[in-house]
Formats: sequence, structure tokens, C-alpha cells
Amino acid sequence: MYGGLEDTICAIATPEGEGGIGIVRLSGPQALVVATQVARLRSGAPLSSVTSHTLHLADLVIPPSDKQEGARVLHNRPPISSLLDEALVVYMKAPRSFTAEDVVEIQSHGGSLVLGMVCKICIESGARMAEPGEFTKRAFLNGRLDLSQAEAVLDTIRARSSAGLNIAQRQLRGDLAHEVEQARTSLLTVLAHVEAGIDFVDEDISFLQRDELVRIVRDAYAVVQKLEATAQEGRILREGARVVILGRPNVGKSSLLNLLLREERAIVTAIPGTTRDVIEESIDLDGVMIHLVDTAGVRETDDLVEREGIKRTHAAQEEADLLLVVVDGSVPLTSDDRKLLSAVRDRKHMVLLNKADLADEVASDAALVGHSSYSISAKTGLGVEMVTAALRAQLVSGGFEAAESVMVTNVRHRDALRRTGESLGQALRSVECGMAGELVSIDVRAAADALGEITGAITTDEILGRIFSEFCIGK
Ligand code: GDP
Repeated sequence: MYGGLEDTICAIATPEGEGGIGIVRLSGPQALVVATQVARLRSGAPLSSVTSHTLHLADLVIPPSDKQEGARVLHNRPPISSLLDEALVVYMKAPRSFTAEDVVEIQSHGGSLVLGMVCKICIESGARMAEPGEFTKRAFLNGRLDLSQAEAVLDTIRARSSAGLNIAQRQLRGDLAHEVEQARTSLLTVLAHVEAGIDFVDEDISFLQRDELVRIVRDAYAVVQKLEATAQEGRILREGARVVILGRPNVGKSSLLNLLLREERAIVTAIPGTTRDVIEESIDLDGVMIHLVDTAGVRETDDLVEREGIKRTHAAQEEADLLLVVVDGSVPLTSDDRKLLSAVRDRKHMVLLNKADLADEVASDAALVGHSSYSISAKTGLGVEMVTAALRAQLVSGGFEAAESVMVTNVRHRDALRRTGESLGQALRSVECGMAGELVSIDVRAAADALGEITGAITTDEILGRIFSEFCIGK
């Protein structure tokens, strides 16, 4: 899928469409040579003479074709150059660039014609169009970033909440990689000892040495388990939490949704279908994205359309991170309310006793015992602040806000950690059963390899292809 690192690659690095500024990025050994074909410094100096990391005003020109140039020389005419735009050009000398290669960025006006022409000239001058994510992939292959940091680049671009962005930035800084590499290095130390002949059950070896090896494996196991435990919350911080609003018709579900959208920062508005369908909107709750799903009223019905809505409600319910059950608190609980309350008992949920501005007919009902319930009014806004605070607290512990904490947000990392944990668990059990060191080391090796997948110390073309194909071209 990718060419070699000896190629010079080029792509438009800014989004498609019109913009004040657009950037064409070149990376590779010929970056300066290629850029010289399209950019002429106003100062008249050759581009190759500029100091790295400084900006220079340049004219972007369409170089004359060989035929034009030949005719010009033949007829002794002045040089022809067709002006494309003016631009700022920056040269970033290897290895002090994003890819750790020679990079030139050409910042012109952001029109697709100009940018497309600049790219075309670069390609005619010897560069090749970059594959999706190829700049970041080069940063990885050249050792500028490890794989988890490369993935954090994508998470940064895609972040939809401040919490998600914060975690992506910490990962980009290398926090996750550091912790994972530390654990992996200690496991490799264990392997080296075992391979050097130290056996966990060998009577000749001092207990201290053997115990020390077991302790290292235990410590790595603890780190892996700790990281794995952050994955659920990490996913919520990265992608947002799905919160499904449930309740029979007319209890105030839509009113609640509207109130939350009004009071909190609403991010997305997508309203597919009718009022009987499932409606999803997203709000930013203090930096955490919450996807609120309003559902069709849950009740027995013969109406086909409504039945379809209810089917979707059940599907949404299954995927939810938290269920918000709304009841009309101004009237006694109905049997539908009671059914719903018992159905959600084993799920993460909150019960909202709505219409508290009218009357309270339910708060002392025994069916509410054991549920965390809140009296609110979707009409007046009463109690809503408490609900949003409780909602956020139920979904994220807040531990991630501590600057030093490392979180796992990526399914690929979680999967690798799960496999690492399984292998280390097996290794420890084998030690307890008095198995030979060589047998233990098979599991320790598998664990170290699985950890290595996270940072890319151990990787395959298939893994790389999968990761970088998710990127856009130019990144
Ligand atoms: P849904 O079918 O569960 O989505 O319920 P709606 O949000 O459409 O509300 C049903 C009716 O109850 C509407 O007439 C709302 O104005 C009213 N309603 C909703 N919440 C409250 C509340 O807190 N207090 C009062 N007094 N009326 C409410």
C-alpha cells in the first residue's frame, strides 16, 4: 500500500473546500528540490539557502514546460512564468520535523484550484501523492512517534469534547507509551534471565532471585490490569456516553431532552424520523460528550409504527452506558412504570420523578427503594442541575482529570491489554504450580509481544495498514 521512505510525498494538508489559507505539505529527501519548482522566494535567494524553521514570502509559479523553455531559449525571449499565487514557505530540516524527514510546507490562499495546482506541480516535479495517514506513518517509521502517539494524532483531530482532547494530548505526549514500555521492558528482563538459565523452580537459584522475577511479573500484571480498568471510562471520554431516556408517553421525556439541550452546550442536532422514532442529540457536559437518546414511549401497543419505534428503543437500551428513567411524579406510578423500574434494576441508571412542580405522588412509593431518584421539573428546570452533575459523576469518575493519570481509550489498546493480562495471569499460575521456567517464559513472551503492539515495538503491515488507513490524506 505504501511506497518506500525514499519517496518524497506531497498532499494538501488542510480540509477540502475554500479557506483563508491552505497548506500543501511535502516530506522526503527531495522536498526542497520539488518545492523549488513551484515556489520562488521574493528575496531572490534560492529556497535551499533558507534557515530551517523560518517563514519566507514566495511567488508560486507554474514552471514552463520543456517545450516552452526550449522555444524561449531559441528565440531569446525573457523567461515566462505563470503566476499562481503568493505564499509563505517554511522549510523544516530533518530530523526536526513532524515526519523526521525534510519537510516543506507551502501556505497559499485556501482555494481548491490553487492547492490542487501546487500539488500537481509538485508531483510533476518528482513527488508522489501521499497515502492516507502517510505523514504520520513516516513519523512512526522514523521513530518520531510510537504507534500509540500516532493514533493520538487522529484522536486529537477527531476529539469532540475537551476531556477527549485532553486524553489524546497526554497520549500524544507519550504517557501511555511510557507506562506500557516500562512494563514491557521489565518483562523482557525476566525473559533474559530465564533464557540465561534461571528457573523459577530451580533449587540452585536463590529464592531472592526467583522471587524477584515473580515480583516483576506481578507488578507488570498490576499495571496492565490498572490500565485495562480505565478502558470503559476512556471509551466514554473519547467517544462520548450513550444515555437513553426511557419512560411511558407523556411523562416529559422530550421536555427533559429539550431542557438539557437548552441548558447545556448542544453539539449535534440530528433528528431522524418522527416523534415515535428514536431521537439522538449530543450535549457537552463539562467537557464530557453525552449522546442523549430519546425513545418512543415504552408500553404495550398494537400500532405497527409504534411497535417499530419500541423495537428500536430496546436496541438503543441495550447499547446504553446509562438509562435515564422518567416517570410522572405528579400521579401515582402505573404498572408500566413499575415494570420499567424493575427492568432497569441491574443496569446503570437514574430515575427522574418529573413534574415536581405539580405534585409529588411517588417519592414514598416502595418501588423506588434502591433506585437513585431525583425530583425534577422539565418545565421549570427544578432539580436539573443536580441531575446533570449526578449523571456526569455516574459516567466518569473524574480520576482522568488528574494530570498524571493514564487512560486507555482505544479498542485496539484495550484488546492488547486484555491479551497481555491473560498471558501474565497464566504465567503466574504456572509459577504457582511449579512449572519449568521455559514454560512460564512462553506466556511472558506472549504478554511482552501483546504490549509491544500498543507502541508498535511489535507490529505487522496489517496492523499499520488498518491504523493509518483511518487517517485522511495530508495527515
Ligand atoms: P414525552 O411523551 O414523555 O416525551 O412527554 P412530553 O415531553 O411531550 O411532555 C408531555 C406533557 O407533559 C407536555 O404537555 C409537557 O408540557 C408536560 N410536561 C413535561 N414536563 C413537565 C413538568 O415538569 N411539569 C409540568 N407541569 N408539565 C410537564
